[in-house]
Amino acid sequence: MHDVSARYAQDDPNAVVEQRYSVMVEAPEGLNVISGQPDLVYLDRRHILDFKTIKAVPGPWRVYTCPETGALIREGPYAWRTKMIACPHCFEGEHIARQIVQEGPPRAKKAHVQQVSLYRLVLAEHGIAVDTAEIVYMDMREQLRIPVELLPLDEAWKLIEQRLALFATGSIPDILHDPDENWECDYCPVRGVCERLYGAPVGKSLVGEEAA
Ligand code: SF4
Ligand SMILES: [Zn+2]
Repeated sequence: MHDVSARYAQDDPNAVVEQRYSVMVEAPEGLNVISGQPDLVYLDRRHILDFKTIKAVPGPWRVYTCPETGALIREGPYAWRTKMIACPHCFEGEHIARQIVQEGPPRAKKAHVQQVSLYRLVLAEHGIAVDTAEIVYMDMREQLRIPVELLPLDEAWKLIEQRLALFATGSIPDILHDPDENWECDYCPVRGVCERLYGAPVGKSLVGEEAA
Protein backbone atom coordinates (compact mmCIF):
# COMPACT_ATOMS: atom_id res chain seq x y z
CA MET A 1 0.00 0.00 0.00
CA HIS A 2 2.84 2.36 0.82
CA ASP A 3 4.38 1.72 -2.55
CA VAL A 4 1.07 2.15 -4.35
CA SER A 5 0.34 5.45 -2.66
CA ALA A 6 3.87 6.68 -3.39
CA ARG A 7 3.47 5.94 -7.09
CA TYR A 8 0.01 7.43 -7.18
CA ALA A 9 1.16 10.59 -5.46
CA GLN A 10 3.90 11.28 -8.01
CA ASP A 11 1.26 12.65 -10.36
CA ASP A 12 -0.64 14.59 -7.72
CA PRO A 13 0.89 17.84 -6.52
CA ASN A 14 -1.58 17.88 -3.62
CA ALA A 15 -0.48 14.54 -2.19
CA VAL A 16 2.40 14.29 0.27
CA VAL A 17 3.64 10.77 0.88
CA GLU A 18 5.66 9.54 3.85
CA GLN A 19 7.31 12.84 4.51
CA ARG A 20 8.77 13.23 7.99
CA TYR A 21 7.97 16.44 9.89
CA SER A 22 9.49 17.48 13.20
CA VAL A 23 8.81 20.06 15.86
CA MET A 24 10.74 21.21 18.89
CA VAL A 25 8.87 20.95 22.16
CA GLU A 26 9.90 22.64 25.36
CA ALA A 27 9.63 20.51 28.46
CA PRO A 28 10.80 21.16 32.02
CA GLU A 29 13.90 19.03 31.51
CA GLY A 30 14.84 20.64 28.21
CA LEU A 31 14.07 20.73 24.53
CA ASN A 32 12.68 17.67 22.78
CA VAL A 33 12.17 16.87 19.13
CA ILE A 34 8.98 15.16 18.11
CA SER A 35 8.59 13.85 14.61
CA GLY A 36 5.96 12.06 12.63
CA GLN A 37 5.64 10.60 9.19
CA PRO A 38 2.06 10.37 7.96
CA ASP A 39 1.47 7.88 5.16
CA LEU A 40 -0.49 10.23 2.93
CA VAL A 41 -1.59 13.85 3.29
CA TYR A 42 -3.98 15.50 0.84
CA LEU A 43 -3.09 19.19 1.03
CA ASP A 44 -6.17 20.34 -0.90
CA ARG A 45 -8.63 18.20 1.06
CA ARG A 46 -6.83 18.90 4.35
CA HIS A 47 -7.02 15.18 5.01
CA ILE A 48 -4.67 12.49 6.38
CA LEU A 49 -4.76 8.82 5.40
CA ASP A 50 -2.84 6.25 7.41
CA PHE A 51 -2.58 2.55 6.55
CA LYS A 52 -2.52 -0.11 9.25
CA THR A 53 -2.04 -3.82 8.85
CA ILE A 54 -3.73 -5.61 11.72
CA LYS A 55 -4.67 -9.14 12.76
CA ALA A 56 -8.37 -8.39 12.32
CA VAL A 57 -10.01 -5.14 11.22
CA PRO A 58 -12.05 -3.53 14.05
CA GLY A 59 -15.52 -5.03 14.50
CA PRO A 60 -18.68 -3.11 15.35
CA TRP A 61 -18.56 -0.85 18.40
CA ARG A 62 -20.60 -2.61 21.08
CA VAL A 63 -22.38 -0.77 23.85
CA TYR A 64 -23.86 -2.70 26.79
CA THR A 65 -26.46 -0.71 28.71
CA CYS A 66 -28.42 -1.61 31.84
CA PRO A 67 -32.06 -1.98 30.71
CA GLU A 68 -33.34 -0.96 34.15
CA THR A 69 -31.41 2.28 34.61
CA GLY A 70 -30.06 3.09 31.15
CA ALA A 71 -26.55 3.30 32.61
CA LEU A 72 -23.55 2.19 30.59
CA ILE A 73 -22.05 -1.14 31.65
CA ARG A 74 -19.24 -1.39 29.13
CA GLU A 75 -18.40 -0.44 25.58
CA GLY A 76 -15.74 -1.38 23.11
CA PRO A 77 -14.98 -3.36 19.96
CA TYR A 78 -15.21 -6.76 21.66
CA ALA A 79 -18.24 -8.96 22.23
CA TRP A 80 -18.90 -10.11 25.76
CA ARG A 81 -18.07 -13.79 25.70
CA THR A 82 -20.28 -15.33 28.35
CA LYS A 83 -24.07 -15.39 28.46
CA MET A 84 -24.54 -13.14 31.48
CA ILE A 85 -22.91 -9.78 32.06
CA ALA A 86 -22.62 -8.34 35.57
CA CYS A 87 -24.34 -5.00 36.14
CA PRO A 88 -23.32 -2.68 38.97
CA HIS A 89 -26.22 -0.31 38.28
CA CYS A 90 -29.36 -2.19 39.27
CA PHE A 91 -30.86 -4.54 41.80
CA GLU A 92 -30.84 -7.47 39.36
CA GLY A 93 -27.09 -7.32 39.18
CA GLU A 94 -26.74 -9.11 35.84
CA HIS A 95 -28.30 -9.27 32.39
CA ILE A 96 -28.26 -11.49 29.33
CA ALA A 97 -25.47 -9.88 27.32
CA ARG A 98 -26.91 -10.31 23.84
CA GLN A 99 -30.22 -8.73 24.90
CA ILE A 100 -28.70 -5.47 26.04
CA VAL A 101 -26.05 -4.85 23.40
CA GLN A 102 -26.25 -2.22 20.70
CA GLU A 103 -23.89 -2.34 17.76
CA GLY A 104 -22.63 0.76 15.99
CA PRO A 105 -20.07 1.48 13.26
CA PRO A 106 -16.49 0.32 13.95
CA ARG A 107 -14.13 2.86 15.50
CA ALA A 108 -10.44 3.42 15.01
CA LYS A 109 -8.21 2.28 17.87
CA LYS A 110 -7.44 4.86 20.50
CA ALA A 111 -3.69 4.76 19.88
CA HIS A 112 -4.25 5.35 16.17
CA VAL A 113 -6.54 8.29 16.86
CA GLN A 114 -3.81 9.74 19.05
CA GLN A 115 -1.18 9.07 16.41
CA VAL A 116 -2.96 10.86 13.56
CA SER A 117 -3.96 13.66 15.93
CA LEU A 118 -0.26 14.18 16.64
CA TYR A 119 0.44 14.12 12.91
CA ARG A 120 -2.04 16.92 12.56
CA LEU A 121 -0.31 18.88 15.31
CA VAL A 122 3.11 18.47 13.72
CA LEU A 123 1.71 19.41 10.30
CA ALA A 124 0.01 22.49 11.78
CA GLU A 125 3.39 23.64 13.09
CA HIS A 126 4.57 23.48 9.47
CA GLY A 127 1.65 25.56 8.24
CA ILE A 128 -0.28 22.60 6.84
CA ALA A 129 -3.88 22.57 7.99
CA VAL A 130 -5.71 19.27 8.41
CA ASP A 131 -9.38 18.89 9.35
CA THR A 132 -10.08 15.20 8.84
CA ALA A 133 -8.37 11.84 8.83
CA GLU A 134 -9.02 8.20 8.11
CA ILE A 135 -7.30 4.98 9.06
CA VAL A 136 -7.31 2.26 6.43
CA TYR A 137 -7.20 -1.04 8.32
CA MET A 138 -6.10 -4.13 6.45
CA ASP A 139 -6.14 -7.71 7.58
CA MET A 140 -5.61 -10.83 5.48
CA ARG A 141 -9.23 -10.81 4.33
CA GLU A 142 -10.45 -7.27 4.03
CA GLN A 143 -9.81 -3.56 4.05
CA LEU A 144 -11.80 -1.18 6.20
CA ARG A 145 -11.62 2.59 6.06
CA ILE A 146 -12.63 4.28 9.31
CA PRO A 147 -12.98 8.04 9.75
CA VAL A 148 -11.18 9.37 12.80
CA GLU A 149 -12.41 11.98 15.19
CA LEU A 150 -9.23 14.01 15.62
CA LEU A 151 -8.29 15.38 19.03
CA PRO A 152 -8.48 19.17 19.21
CA LEU A 153 -5.01 20.71 18.95
CA ASP A 154 -4.89 21.76 22.60
CA GLU A 155 -5.65 18.18 23.69
CA ALA A 156 -2.97 16.88 21.36
CA TRP A 157 -0.49 19.24 23.02
CA LYS A 158 -1.58 17.97 26.43
CA LEU A 159 -0.99 14.42 25.30
CA ILE A 160 2.55 15.29 24.27
CA GLU A 161 3.18 16.99 27.61
CA GLN A 162 1.90 13.95 29.51
CA ARG A 163 4.09 11.59 27.53
CA LEU A 164 7.18 13.75 27.85
CA ALA A 165 6.63 14.06 31.59
CA LEU A 166 6.97 10.26 31.87
CA PHE A 167 10.54 10.47 30.62
CA ALA A 168 11.41 12.93 33.37
CA THR A 169 9.98 11.06 36.36
CA GLY A 170 12.31 9.12 38.59
CA SER A 171 9.92 6.20 39.01
CA ILE A 172 7.90 3.80 36.87
CA PRO A 173 4.30 4.87 36.24
CA ASP A 174 1.31 2.68 37.11
CA ILE A 175 1.14 -0.35 34.86
CA LEU A 176 -1.14 -0.25 31.83
CA HIS A 177 -4.29 -2.38 32.14
CA ASP A 178 -6.37 -1.13 29.25
CA PRO A 179 -6.15 -3.62 26.34
CA ASP A 180 -6.28 -0.58 24.07
CA GLU A 181 -3.01 0.58 25.62
CA ASN A 182 -1.06 -2.34 27.03
CA TRP A 183 0.37 -3.35 23.62
CA GLU A 184 2.70 -0.41 24.30
CA CYS A 185 4.60 -2.60 26.76
CA ASP A 186 5.94 -4.53 23.75
CA TYR A 187 7.79 -1.34 22.77
CA CYS A 188 8.68 -0.11 26.24
CA PRO A 189 12.39 0.36 27.01
CA VAL A 190 11.92 -0.25 30.74
CA ARG A 191 9.71 -3.32 30.62
CA GLY A 192 12.21 -5.53 32.43
CA VAL A 193 12.40 -3.17 35.39
CA CYS A 194 8.67 -2.64 35.34
CA GLU A 195 7.93 -6.39 35.48
CA ARG A 196 10.45 -6.94 38.23
CA LEU A 197 8.87 -4.21 40.38
CA TYR A 198 5.35 -5.39 39.57
CA GLY A 199 6.35 -8.99 40.22
CA ALA A 200 4.58 -10.43 37.18
CA PRO A 201 4.40 -10.08 33.41
CA VAL A 202 2.70 -6.93 32.13
CA GLY A 203 1.33 -5.97 28.73
CA LYS A 204 -0.85 -8.19 26.59
CA SER A 205 0.07 -11.20 28.72
CA LEU A 206 -1.64 -9.52 31.67
CA VAL A 207 -4.38 -11.95 32.59
CA GLY A 208 -7.61 -10.57 31.23
CA GLU A 209 -10.04 -8.29 32.89
CA GLU A 210 -11.09 -7.95 29.29
CA ALA A 211 -11.93 -10.76 26.88
CA ALA A 212 -10.28 -9.82 23.59
S1 SF4 B 1 6.26 -2.17 30.55
FE1 SF4 B 1 4.19 -1.41 30.10
S2 SF4 B 1 3.30 -0.93 32.08
FE2 SF4 B 1 5.53 -1.11 32.38
S3 SF4 B 1 6.30 0.99 32.19
FE3 SF4 B 1 6.46 0.05 30.18
S4 SF4 B 1 4.54 0.60 29.13
FE4 SF4 B 1 4.21 0.99 31.33
ZN1 LIG C 1 -28.66 -3.44 35.32
